[in-house]
Amino acid sequence: MSELPYSYDAPVSQALFDRASAVTPGGVNSPVRAFRAVGGTPRFMVSGTGPYLTDADGREYVDLVCSWGPMILGHSHPEVIAAVQEAVSRGTSFGTPGEGEVALAEEMVARIEPLEEVRLVSSGTEATMSAIRLARGFTRRTKVIKFAGCYHGHVDSLLAAAGSGVATFALPDTPGVTGAQAGDTIVLPYNDLEAVQEAFHRHPGEIACVITEASPGNMGVVPPLPGFNQGLKDACQNNGALFVSDEVMTGFRTSRAGWYGIDGVRPDLMTFGKVMGGGFPAAAFGGRADVMAHLAPAGPVYQAGTLSGNPVATAAGLAQLRLLDDAAYARIDDVSTRIQSLVSEALAKEGVAHTLQSASNMFSVFFTDRPVRDYDDARAQESFRFTAFFHSLLANGVYLPPSSFESWFVSTAHDDQAVQRIADALPAAARAAAEATAA
Ligand SMILES: *Cc1c(COP(=O)(O)O)cnc(C)c1O
Repeated sequence: MSELPYSYDAPVSQALFDRASAVTPGGVNSPVRAFRAVGGTPRFMVSGTGPYLTDADGREYVDLVCSWGPMILGHSHPEVIAAVQEAVSRGTSFGTPGEGEVALAEEMVARIEPLEEVRLVSSGTEATMSAIRLARGFTRRTKVIKFAGCYHGHVDSLLAAAGSGVATFALPDTPGVTGAQAGDTIVLPYNDLEAVQEAFHRHPGEIACVITEASPGNMGVVPPLPGFNQGLKDACQNNGALFVSDEVMTGFRTSRAGWYGIDGVRPDLMTFGKVMGGGFPAAAFGGRADVMAHLAPAGPVYQAGTLSGNPVATAAGLAQLRLLDDAAYARIDDVSTRIQSLVSEALAKEGVAHTLQSASNMFSVFFTDRPVRDYDDARAQESFRFTAFFHSLLANGVYLPPSSFESWFVSTAHDDQAVQRIADALPAAARAAAEATAA
């Protein structure tokens, strides 16, 4: 840490991190939080209000992570907090059906036309894992197509990396995933429809589904090229496979109806998480009623959860969704556009090669002057410039995702004052990026 020129003290966070590292692998409960990509001390946050987070050392930051998307109304929104308090006062879990989960499902189904039925779960990982199982059970096929750079949670079969050559099956991306689990997955380059056609051609009658991020945000923001999602949908339809659109990140963030509300391509199954939980563990998968009818107890494909449809989580999610009207999305889109312009101007002024990419109000900066269309393009950026940029902003009270392969997120609470704080911090960060050298 001390070898970083832009290092500065965060003694209370560091003490907490030392304690955490003694009892938790790497000191965190989700890897990106450990700051491994950028170095330095992860900030332990103690509270959040509107667009701001406060860390254990008492420093305040404009938050451009928003809990990786869920806090779309900002932190501690009074109406969401009130809904949670009301729900908590009636008890926290019953292990029975309850009205809150019905109301949340109704709200989701009303917003997204192809979402005919929905099953609630507790994490995005569970949602994609269950959607894949259902797609396999429904089609009675085994193989799954996914794209390099798309993240669908830590599902075994989806933690697969592309093997060498288009024809080979995927290899495990991590110890603990078996060759058999990865071997049923075909990993293709994103935005490459020809590769998809080719895979269907090579494996007639074997592919259960294609799963894709509706608009990827987990390799930085890399939107689908015009016609890509429609091409996937058509390829699936022509080959008896299901089209699974992972909207865990984009769902209820990019519009009232998520990415479907923007491109209108009708998936067979969809997955959700993040925004729909209002900051609590709530996620979902759903879609075509005839496919969902295969799910237990209506059908034979098993899926269950002790805390699924939890009354506190569903109350938070429902309160948040009900506040997300067209005016809210217009506000988020506007603040996102303003921040994007400020970032681009600051970097251009210092002559830093960069490409700003956005998908609705999600955006990220790639330190390259080339457009980024897939994971290989994303990896070709000068990430060392991001490290310098990140630490300068952190030192000046702006909290970015601690990796150059993540989307930035804003909320309805990002007001003029928050935008001004970002604007004030950007010139020094752009200079740091310009002066950075590869390690
Ligand atoms: C975050 C994310 C997931 C995983 O959700 P968790 O709740 O972290 O398990 C899956 N898919 C996408 C597109 C995501 O962004």
